[in-house]
Amino acid sequence: MIAFQEHVPLAPFTSLKIGGPARFFTTAASVTELREALLFAREKGLPFGILGGGSNLLVSDDGFRGVIIRLQMEGVRRSGCEIEAEAGVDLTGLIYRTADWGLSGMESLAGIPGLLGGAVRGNAGAYGSCIGEVAATVFALHAESLALLALEREDCGFSYRSSRFKLDPRLIVVSALLVLSKGEPEAVRHKVEGTIAKRTARHLQCEKSVGSFFMNPVVTDPELIRRFETDQQLRCRESRIPAGWLIDQSGLRNTRVGAAMVSALHANYLINTGEASADEMIRLARLVKSRVRDAMGVQLQEEVSCLGFPAPEQQEVPR
Ligand SMILES: Cc1cc2nc3c(=O)[nH]c(=O)nc-3n(C[C@H](O)[C@H](O)[C@H](O)COP(=O)(O)OP(=O)(O)OC[C@H]3O[C@@H](n4cnc5c(N)ncnc54)[C@H](O)[C@@H]3O)c2cc1C
Repeated sequence: MIAFQEHVPLAPFTSLKIGGPARFFTTAASVTELREALLFAREKGLPFGILGGGSNLLVSDDGFRGVIIRLQMEGVRRSGCEIEAEAGVDLTGLIYRTADWGLSGMESLAGIPGLLGGAVRGNAGAYGSCIGEVAATVFALHAESLALLALEREDCGFSYRSSRFKLDPRLIVVSALLVLSKGEPEAVRHKVEGTIAKRTARHLQCEKSVGSFFMNPVVTDPELIRRFETDQQLRCRESRIPAGWLIDQSGLRNTRVGAAMVSALHANYLINTGEASADEMIRLARLVKSRVRDAMGVQLQEEVSCLGFPAPEQQEVPR
């Protein structure tokens, strides 16, 4: 039997340190416990929310009037170049373990905060790689049927910061089979540390943020693409332009709403400089979206997940 706490503040569980309490809160250390938690929510007639590392989550000031299930399943099994890891495993900790085993393929993802399940759900990525490239099979629990499904990569719908699990919140990632390639432990570790050093040099890891607040949008205006490429001396990839560049070009760096601020270091980081409320973050995000739309003719879309706002499982900041 798992225990349920009541009225648990969610802010400490998020990287933004923002948000009110969960009506009920529990942890699930196994698929059985996850099923039990989902049944509890069903019996109470309440919605459920899944909490991983909380590094991509904006929780409303009113909290969540449902059951928050924090995933704590942390098993890892290795067989040759294949690793089966559970959703509650810390992503960067896992990457360090792959380095010890001399397994290559995840080095560019080192330093992305959060847990494996959250990373699979959002197809987390950095420096041109993403987790969907190494996740060969994903095991997910269907919140309605409570059946455990095994989905091969081609059925997971991985695309830029998205997946089938993001589009269908009834699918809860419980583990993934990661297929890596053989390398030398020293060389893999060197690459992992190189990635972490690049991130640390940007001084962004310690801000209270969710990382990139908006996704990099697809841009069709050839003049805007040319302007970006000339300004940054970079080729635009898959017609996407960094949201941070668009925000910066719209003159929004350092813009504040209360204690919520567009970072001076990276304009796609909306940071909590002190005791910002979710309301302030939302008003800042709205301001950024409308200014970028007016100045650049581009509509930004949130990468952050919003929890506890009026529409269930809302992916966008309320208008
Ligand atoms: C400083 C900083 C830097 C970042 N850099 C990057 C980066 O380079 N690249 C990148 O892609 N992201 C980056 N992020 C964002 C974030 O780290 C990733 O999105 C991460 O993968 C989220 O994982 P999490 O466990 O923290 O998810 P959470 O924040 O706990 O959850 C996010 C969403 O996923 C859902 N969810 C969580 N676990 C599961 C599961 N097992 N099954 C189904 N749904 C689930 C939650 O319900 C929620 O809707 C950064 C964040 C920060 C704070």
